[in-house]
Amino acid sequence: NPDLQEILSDALNGRSGEQVISVRDERYQIDASPILSGNAVRGAALFFFTVTEKEKAEQIRREFTANVSHELKTPLTAISGYAELIEHHMAREEDVGRFGGEIHRSAVRLLRMIDDIIRLSELDVMETESPVLERVPLYELAEVSVDMLRINGEKHGVKLFLHGAPCIIRGNKEMVEEVLYNLCDNAIRYNREGGSVFVTAEPKGDRVRLCVEDTGIGIPEEHIERVFERFYRVDRSRSKATGGTGLGLAIVKHIAARHHAELILESREGEGTRITLWFDRGDEP
Ligand code: ADP
Repeated sequence: NPDLQEILSDALNGRSGEQVISVRDERYQIDASPILSGNAVRGAALFFFTVTEKEKAEQIRREFTANVSHELKTPLTAISGYAELIEHHMAREEDVGRFGGEIHRSAVRLLRMIDDIIRLSELDVMETESPVLERVPLYELAEVSVDMLRINGEKHGVKLFLHGAPCIIRGNKEMVEEVLYNLCDNAIRYNREGGSVFVTAEPKGDRVRLCVEDTGIGIPEEHIERVFERFYRVDRSRSKATGGTGLGLAIVKHIAARHHAELILESREGEGTRITLWFDRGDEP
C-alpha cells in the first residue's frame, strides 16, 4: 500500500505522522512514530485503529441531520403558507375550514415526527448505558397491544389475531410495548381492506419468538434491506397519508439490538410481510 509505505518511510526517517488509509473495505487511522535511541532512529512504531464503523456512523449522522431538516420543513412550509393566506384575508370564506384542517394535520405530523426523533436520540444516548432488564411477560403485553389496536384495525377493515402461549423475556417493558405497537400499526396501515394481522408470542426451545405477520401490500425485494433506515419509505405518499414518520422500524431495530434480539423481515410484494424477533428466554435460572 503506497500510503502505508510513505508513512512508514517517513517514520524511519524520524518524522511522525498520522493518516487515514483504505485497505480493501476497511478504513484505518495510522499513527506512526520513529523509535529513537539518542539521535539515531532505531525503528518505527505504527498503531492501526480501525475507523470504518466510526466513519460510517458519522456519515449516517450527517445524513440524518440533513433528512430531519427536510422532513420538518415540509409540514412547516404548509403551516406557514396556509396561515399566511388566512392572516392576509386571501383565503375565501369557504376555504378557511379546509386550510385550518391542513394546518392541523401538518402540526400533528410535525409533533409525531418530533416525538419519534426524540425517542431515537434517547435510544442513541442510552446505547452507552447498560439497560435495566426486567422479567417481561411477552404474551400478556402482546394481548394488551392487540386489544388496544383492534379499533384502529377496524377503521381500516383489518382484523387482528393473537396466537401463542405465555412466555417471559428479559427486557424493558416500555421498549417491548413500543416494538409491538410499531409493528402492529404498520401491519394495519400497510394492509388492505378485509386483511388480517397475526401476532404470535411463544416460547421456542431456548428462545422466545415474537412475530407480526400481515396480509398487506408487502415490500418489493429491492427495498427490504433499507426499510430499517431512518426516514426510508417505500411509498412516501402512503406513509404520509397514514400518519407515518419513516422512523418506526428504525426504532424497532434499535430496541431489538438493545435486547440482543435477532430481527428478521420477510416480505412478498402484494402478499404480505412478516417481522420476527427472537429473544432469549427470561425464565431461565
Ligand atoms: P412509516 O412511518 O413510513 O411507516 P416505518 O419506519 O415504520 O415508517 O417503515 C418504513 C417503511 O417500510 C414504510 O414507509 C413502508 O414503506 C415499509 N413498511 C413497514 N412496515 C410494512 C408492512 N408491514 N408492510 C409493507 N410495508 C411496510
